[in-house]
Amino acid sequence: MPLFDTHAHLDSEQIHPHLDEILKKVDEEAMRITAIGTDPKSSHRCLELAKSHDNIFAAAGLHPNYCAKFEDSHWQAILEIVDHPKVVAIGETGLDKYWDDCPFDVQQKWFERHVDLSFRKNKPLVIHTRECEIEMIETLERLARDNRIIGIMHSFVGSEDTAKRCLDLGMYISFAGMVTFKKSAALREVAKTIPDDRILIETDSPYLSPHPLRSKRPNVPMYVEHTANCLAEVRGVSVEELVTQTFANANRVFNLEDTQK
Ligand SMILES: [Zn+2]
Repeated sequence: MPLFDTHAHLDSEQIHPHLDEILKKVDEEAMRITAIGTDPKSSHRCLELAKSHDNIFAAAGLHPNYCAKFEDSHWQAILEIVDHPKVVAIGETGLDKYWDDCPFDVQQKWFERHVDLSFRKNKPLVIHTRECEIEMIETLERLARDNRIIGIMHSFVGSEDTAKRCLDLGMYISFAGMVTFKKSAALREVAKTIPDDRILIETDSPYLSPHPLRSKRPNVPMYVEHTANCLAEVRGVSVEELVTQTFANANRVFNLEDTQK
């Protein structure tokens, strides 16, 4: 059963030396990856990769950490590709209080644009949140339409309450390598509570390799199996079951069921 890494920065320079190996895995073993854009150039590059490989998909968006430099022309470059069938999500977008590269009100403005685009295009959001969990959930609840907002809380590290409020809005919860770390016992408890049909796995490569490969750099999509192993153990299911569930969930959130080969 192939794995689905729902969040990888395949256009990253650190990934570049490993790209051939990754693409081989994707083409030969039908592993699926969503390549996540962070600015116009990266979003376009992710789409180019997706166009040339059946099992790669792209997300287009402007990352909150870089949003101080974004102008309308950058947004236009996202709009140019958003209708392409291989652009399956809007992002990476979100809110971040850890890095103070961009004023929070400017981040909010860009985030709301992405949310609006997601509604208009009927494509899910890929949401980054760092050190502003309460602001994020309150923003999502405010912007939801008919109490719904479709998207992925990527590399989730929040509380059970936040997870529940996201789930109530119809969102998916995606776990990255962090959940495998020794110190992440509380996060593993949260991972136990996510319904079978809403859990996803990702690497967020090239960042933070999962245990036991934590010292390996860069993190690559193949390592997502370690996150799958950890979550299967925590949730008391077989690895095969966890992989099957997360693969089906990823196809559902990205609207890929019809294109499955
Ligand atoms: Zn990311």
